[in-house]
Amino acid sequence: MRLLQLRALQNANSIGILFKLALPLENMVREIVLIGRSNVGKSTLFWELTGKKVRIGKRPGITQYPFKARVGDVFYVDMPGYGFMLRASRADQEKTKDLIVQYFEQHAQEILLAIQVIDAASFLDIADRWEGRGEVPFEIELWEFLGDLGLDTVLAANKMDRIAKQDVDGALDLICERLGMLPPWTQWTDKIAPISAKRGQIQPIRDIVGKKLAWKQPQGSI
Ligand code: GDP
Repeated sequence: MRLLQLRALQNANSIGILFKLALPLENMVREIVLIGRSNVGKSTLFWELTGKKVRIGKRPGITQYPFKARVGDVFYVDMPGYGFMLRASRADQEKTKDLIVQYFEQHAQEILLAIQVIDAASFLDIADRWEGRGEVPFEIELWEFLGDLGLDTVLAANKMDRIAKQDVDGALDLICERLGMLPPWTQWTDKIAPISAKRGQIQPIRDIVGKKLAWKQPQGSI
């Protein structure tokens, strides 16, 4: 069994207890958490969703995280980018991954939605490289881990502008398959949001966030 799966199972009991002790919905802090490898366009999407610039720490990926910005009654949370980081040692990279995993474990109760951002244009190449080395790509492991924690998770397939129009559906079908969802991707539009954050083309993710917020409103407050 994979490490993250094991951790999810170990935590399932305590999370179950937390849910029973949960505060009434109207008193709960609600979070939408963005997560992704460095350089996938997470800060750009954060800006598009919140109008707030992510503060950059002294060392890439490590300091001043998680960064939070409030929009209405929801906190958007930016997690550190994982994967290759300029000037970050392997130990720092592992620390970043631990921080991410612990954050999700400890805050599962408050998280309304986890947005996992990928660079759709390079995701498949990176996944092939990892699998060629006999490893499970961290992005795929993370996706499964978030699902095992019972979180609502959406994949923001960013940088779609870098994929030729005629290849878009094929690429999204392959991404879908890699994440354990049966293609065609068009049957997963509540799970996969093709966007281009840099161009401000993020309507698919806005739609999913909007639905989630409407659905979670306490009764009588809509
Ligand atoms: P982060 O490290 O994941 O926070 O990534 P950033 O938001 O800093 O973006 C990394 C690079 O990707 C920057 O040069 C952005 O301008 C670029 N970028 C972000 N979104 C897009 C997009 O939708 N399309 C393209 N082509 N580039 C993007």
